[in-house]
Amino acid sequence: MAPKSCALCRNAKAILRRPKTGQQICKDCFFRVFETEVHNTITEARLFKQGDSVAIGASGGKDSTVLAYVMKTLNERYQYGLNLFLLSIDEGITGYRDDSLETVKRNQQQYDMPLKILSYHELYGWTMDRVVSTIGKKNNCTFCGVFRRQALDRGAATLGVDHIVTGHNADDIAETVLMNIMRGDIARLGRCTAICTQGEDTIRRSKPFKYAYEKEIVMYAYFKKLDYFSTECIYSPDAYRGHARAFLKDLEAARPSAIIDIIHSGEAFEVKDEVRATQKAQQTCIRCGYMSSNDLCKACSLLEGLERGMSTAAITDKGRRKLEAQGPAPDNLRTIPYFHPPNSTITNDSPEQPQVND
Ligand code: SF4
Ligand code: ZN
Repeated sequence: MAPKSCALCRNAKAILRRPKTGQQICKDCFFRVFETEVHNTITEARLFKQGDSVAIGASGGKDSTVLAYVMKTLNERYQYGLNLFLLSIDEGITGYRDDSLETVKRNQQQYDMPLKILSYHELYGWTMDRVVSTIGKKNNCTFCGVFRRQALDRGAATLGVDHIVTGHNADDIAETVLMNIMRGDIARLGRCTAICTQGEDTIRRSKPFKYAYEKEIVMYAYFKKLDYFSTECIYSPDAYRGHARAFLKDLEAARPSAIIDIIHSGEAFEVKDEVRATQKAQQTCIRCGYMSSNDLCKACSLLEGLERGMSTAAITDKGRRKLEAQGPAPDNLRTIPYFHPPNSTITNDSPEQPQVND
């Protein structure tokens, strides 16, 4: 049987089946549709304006490596006028992050972008290796996730950038929608599909791969022969997310559009005013100045628990009561350096959203 021709250009031989649509297409058409869809996501959401400085959260993994490559390509092709940086967080995980950071350092050379690496050790005085050796493999991802979020903002503030982009893809977002439904976490459900988020005074953060399928990102990296690191973290990832992931993969196998459909369903949820009214207002942490909905931000609470030998203090009510029974924090407690966020005037509700050229 003669090889099929590409369903898009009708010219070249089809060599792959596009996971998102099932179309049989050639390599060049795949690159073009993948890049164009990301460009459309960026322009429709008006993510950037000319002259913005943007940090790409880079872990050395497939998502962020493809993101760095595609951001560079689109910035040049469509003249976005962005100053691009790579920003990596070193959690201090021997045999995992140290190796993946070597990949990011090569990406820095390959893509000719400045790179900033900020470590948990530098910021919090703890590596994840030490956290896990102290608390075990339960709750380690809670510490890691909270620490990473704040580290990214602090690294971006050091670089003086306006915006952070992360490699979260459509599968990640659909999984998060499912997890929030299963947990009944209405507050997070209301915001987890937002392409761009910004707190009171933090840096804008967005997900240009919001509609890009994980399988297509892997395919893109493979056919472009991109240099990325594919090993999983040695500390067991979130088990609950693993269940959501397995469920989503089953749904995708039965109907590939399930991923996008779940995201669209998430976007359509509206949080009732009564529920919204119960959500806590944002303030700044009295200890480190970072955005928080309590007196102390989550990172300061978790760090205090570690430093005072009560790692569950910021995780369970029982842990918190135990810490409170010990009295106030000692004066010499290790704390996170004070955060001075860059001034920003853009909010999610701004009528004048920044824009790049179509
Ligand atoms: Fe951190 Fe957990 Fe991710 Fe490992 S799996 S990098 S410990 S959040
Ligand atoms: Zn704090």
